[in-house]
Amino acid sequence: MSKVYLTGAGPGDIELLTMKAHRVITEADVIIYDRLANPQLLEMAKDGCEFVYVGKEDGRHTLPQDEINEVIYQNALKHNVVVRLKGGDPFVFGRGGEEGAYLHERGIKFEIIPGITSAISVPAYAGIPVTHRGIAVSFRVVTGHESPNKKESQIAWENFKTDDTIVFLMGLHNLPKISSKLIEVGKSEDYPCAVISRGTTKDQSVVIGTLSNIVQKAKGVPTPALIIVGKVVQLRDQLNWFHT
Ligand code: SAH
Repeated sequence: MSKVYLTGAGPGDIELLTMKAHRVITEADVIIYDRLANPQLLEMAKDGCEFVYVGKEDGRHTLPQDEINEVIYQNALKHNVVVRLKGGDPFVFGRGGEEGAYLHERGIKFEIIPGITSAISVPAYAGIPVTHRGIAVSFRVVTGHESPNKKESQIAWENFKTDDTIVFLMGLHNLPKISSKLIEVGKSEDYPCAVISRGTTKDQSVVIGTLSNIVQKAKGVPTPALIIVGKVVQLRDQLNWFHT
């Protein structure tokens, strides 16, 4: 009986893989993977394992999601151990829920293997804790892919007035809109923020700025990148530990 493992690959550093993800990768008959999953992970697979690339980056899909769902399903009909390897965590903007639902409707068994999401680990590798006693009592992880100018935004921008930390994934292209929207709802122009690119890897780069200068400072930064907005960004002065 075949089973599909919707598996989190972690943010980049291959050592940030769970033991469970490692086990299923070594047992897989086929691995269906994204661009964001570190390709070095595929080297752990057994001989004869097949690889299917369904590249996915920044919310833009090389294959539309419904085709990816179908690719996973078709592989489950052919193979016993199907690993669907996704960057970070499969349920944090990973569309793992849609893939699981598609399999459920077709009677295919699946398991979810959570991964370390970029939303917390990438800031951590930049020396930025997403919460900190006395500074931020919560953090939000928000899609940056939705245009803040879209008529009916599902993002409650008004809620971002507080000092809670905000992490935007898939937001680099919308950085000008995101920063101006946050100023518009009442954050100061010199409010701290950072853009972290290719976090947890040897290519990690960190740009520290304010809401008014981050667009200029982060020009040309490569993807994948996330945006973190909050006073916690200043803690990097003491906590920056990862030197590439
Ligand atoms: N499921 C993933 C997120 C998928 S959305 C997770 O849990 O991490 C893809 C977005 O994640 C990218 O646009 C970027 O904002 C962020 N991201 C993923 N890996 C990253 C990395 N190594 N460095 C910086 N941002 C990253």
